[in-house]
Amino acid sequence: MNPSRLPVRCLTSILVLVAGALAGSGCSSSEPAESKYLIGSGSADITGPIVDVPFTGYSQPTHIANGVHTRLNARAFIIGDIDGGKRLVFVVTDLLNVSQEVRLSVVDNLQAKHGDLYSVDNVVVSATHTHSSPGGFRHDGAYREAYFEAVVNGVTQAIEDAHEDLRPGRILLGEGSVDDAGANRSAVAYRQNPDDERSRYENDTDKEMVLLKFERDDGVIGALSWFAVHPTSLTFNNSLVSADHKGFAAIEMEKLLRARAETTDGVVAAFAQSNCGDVTGNLNLDNTGPGDTDYESASIIGQRQLDAAMALYDGASEPLSGGVDHRFTLVDFTDLEVSDEFTGAGSQRTCFPAYGYSFAGGSTEDGGGHPIFMEGMLEQDESIETLVQLVLMPPPVTDEMRACQAPKPVLYPKAAQPPLPIGVAKLGQLALVFVPSEVTTMSGRRMRETISNILGDEVSHVVIAGYSNDYAGYITTPEEYAVQQYEGGHTLFGPWTLPGFRQELARLARALAEGTPAPGSDEQGDLRGEVDSQRVGNDFDEPPEQGAFGDVIVQPEPLYEPGETVSTSFWTGHPDNAPLGGAPYFEVQRQVDDGWTTVATEADWSTQARWTQASRVIPPYDPLDPFAVPPPPINEAFTVSVDWQIPADVEPGIYRVLLHGSTKPAGSASDPFIAATSRFELAPR
Ligand SMILES: [Zn+2]
Repeated sequence: MNPSRLPVRCLTSILVLVAGALAGSGCSSSEPAESKYLIGSGSADITGPIVDVPFTGYSQPTHIANGVHTRLNARAFIIGDIDGGKRLVFVVTDLLNVSQEVRLSVVDNLQAKHGDLYSVDNVVVSATHTHSSPGGFRHDGAYREAYFEAVVNGVTQAIEDAHEDLRPGRILLGEGSVDDAGANRSAVAYRQNPDDERSRYENDTDKEMVLLKFERDDGVIGALSWFAVHPTSLTFNNSLVSADHKGFAAIEMEKLLRARAETTDGVVAAFAQSNCGDVTGNLNLDNTGPGDTDYESASIIGQRQLDAAMALYDGASEPLSGGVDHRFTLVDFTDLEVSDEFTGAGSQRTCFPAYGYSFAGGSTEDGGGHPIFMEGMLEQDESIETLVQLVLMPPPVTDEMRACQAPKPVLYPKAAQPPLPIGVAKLGQLALVFVPSEVTTMSGRRMRETISNILGDEVSHVVIAGYSNDYAGYITTPEEYAVQQYEGGHTLFGPWTLPGFRQELARLARALAEGTPAPGSDEQGDLRGEVDSQRVGNDFDEPPEQGAFGDVIVQPEPLYEPGETVSTSFWTGHPDNAPLGGAPYFEVQRQVDDGWTTVATEADWSTQARWTQASRVIPPYDPLDPFAVPPPPINEAFTVSVDWQIPADVEPGIYRVLLHGSTKPAGSASDPFIAATSRFELAPR
């Protein structure tokens, strides 16, 4: 460590030592003296509609939600200088990605209450990238205003809770590796990177998890970790809303931590995403593994992250030391000049964003895409051009665009591209890099190197916080881009995308190092109020032909053992006609002296609830018919099946399942009801 950069407390200790007044202060270059920070954590529900909304992660039009596996959450941390200086808000949402509009509305809400304490210059909303969260909160063709509001309200609530929770405390950092939780799904592209660069790394994915443990006098308030792996364990064969493996890890870690004496009641565990652009949890590299089913695979990959996080939590001993500082800006990447320092090939320019053929081919290892496309396509094709013009009617492609994007054959350009939010923050010796993109393994390593070189040895850890504040496709290295695997075909700004991002992040890092303001910002993209909203729910619920709403169709068996699955079903209405936001859809309850206690809901990994209508058939995923149109909502009564896979550790006793259903008569608001199954016994093991 450069002596001129020793933390102030360390210097004080050395002076004391020199004076001979105190021995063994514990200050050494390997163990920085801890600093106090203002820290707070909070979490809130952001589950939106769960039936009749499209999932957008796999680009399969008939991949439509019909129920819930887990709820979706926003988990927030605020980290501030103890002396009232700068603070940083970091939120992890169980979403595929986030939008600038979400962050703008969250900031509007915060500013209405706290003035300019929070702004786009210190609030980061990131996504875990779970592919089993529905689309529709973004201002695109699937926009649903009610879902956008549920997300904005939940994220705001999580931050408000963290704000109310702010107290002085310390932050401990742990770093370790997570084994067998991810594989490189684009080894062909990775191998294009120079030999001498690859030889510096043991693996073709980053195995490191970095974890922060937030500790105060009143207890541990949370743990926040970053690890790179795509949440695609739940494939397009899953039609239930779910937080996938990162959700499994978060839900289970919060249970473990809440049971411990050293934590506060509201302890929050968040598993954030890092540079997972080319990393899949489908370890067989054929859209399966390591488990026998999607849900089993998700729990295995989640458990491996959870085990690593718990070990880091228990062993975290490196206190963060030094102030909180950050720089944020918005950059127009559509035609950015990138200097030789970052291209190594003279001055170059980024391109107006466009998708390549291999984008439509999808990642073969994660299930693939349209069958006429495949990874590695490098040639423009007349018959494909004709088909795309007929089916998609995309914005025109210019010769200039094609030349700029080469060797990517352009499938179609984006219609518009607002400037993109990027940021760099420093929490003591930890630097965080915020990009709105899916960053491949080697791209992330180059970005980290750029930041390390500028911030010097004041910073010992650099973390890529991907999927932050917006979504802008992938970032591959120029060498990876050249072979146009899926990630290269989805690298929107052309071959110099990564050098462009590194150049702009370097500007922010230099401003941080020199204590100067962030470079000037472009204007924020904002489509609020400009996109028509689609409906959530249906017009009304027709009564069932046999029976009535609330009737139990399938009762539980009288007796079960742990490990077995309780299956029930009821008549009900469309679940999304009821107000969105936090109320349980069902509860599994155990009888106690004075009534019933709830042991599981849809917030738990062990349950699944699926809504179906007799006449409604959603075509299953069919690679030969990728342009299939999903059916519109209909007004028929639903049956909802509620399944509970009984965990090994639940108490024996008398149980029941409660449904919180609703019916919507034509022309009026939905009417809630509660229905209960018959009682069943859970035998001791
Ligand atoms: Zn992805």
